[in-house]
Amino acid sequence: MRVALFGDIHANLEALEVVVADAREQGCTDFVCLGDLVGYNANPAECLELVRSMNCPVVKGNHDEDASGDHSLDSMNPTAARALMWTRQQLTEEQREWLRKLRMVRQVSDFTIVHSTLDQPTHWNYVTNRFDAMSNFSYQFTQVCFHGHTHVPRVYVKDSKVHEVPAGTIVIEPGSKYFINVGSVGQPRDGDWRACYAIYDQESKLLVFRRLEYDIAKTQQKIIDAGLPEMLAARLADGR
Ligand code: ZN
Repeated sequence: MRVALFGDIHANLEALEVVVADAREQGCTDFVCLGDLVGYNANPAECLELVRSMNCPVVKGNHDEDASGDHSLDSMNPTAARALMWTRQQLTEEQREWLRKLRMVRQVSDFTIVHSTLDQPTHWNYVTNRFDAMSNFSYQFTQVCFHGHTHVPRVYVKDSKVHEVPAGTIVIEPGSKYFINVGSVGQPRDGDWRACYAIYDQESKLLVFRRLEYDIAKTQQKIIDAGLPEMLAARLADGR
């Protein structure tokens, strides 16, 4: 199995299409989606339908939860809340129902997937350092777990201690556990605007991060045309 792991698409259709095409070119046989299909950008319904048509395992992200519910978004930052209110109107009830039914955690083959963390998947905690990762490892019963949520590609390794290694090409070594953030397709926040995803080859135990350019100007124009907050278009170019 050669798996493309992708998430935090956030309704960015141009980035998603480039990622899917690249994964097929790279010989991926399977796709796994780590959640946050919608929110922020201008093509929530199209991204949802594209992922749904792939018939792959998907876990729920916080934006999927917020876009598919009717609860108040007052506690959220105003820009994200505005985009989510708009997103709620773009989705059909049937699409919202599909998002609502997504599971929080899944085991796929011999690895686990979750949007945020395994210790408290419904709390949407952010893993930004090895101490956050330690809490996750206590609940990780497979050697490898993939996640998203921070939009920053990261690899945490647990051997005799928990440490971080650069998100480049990683060999999954026996005896170690791995908690891997595959970065964001549609709104990267590591200072690199290009779409990010990862390919895991189960036979060779090799994990590779991929960065891809896409038609960002088109995505930005759609955000403006939809009347979404302009800073959402600007931040795409900054990769923040
Ligand atoms: Zn996200």
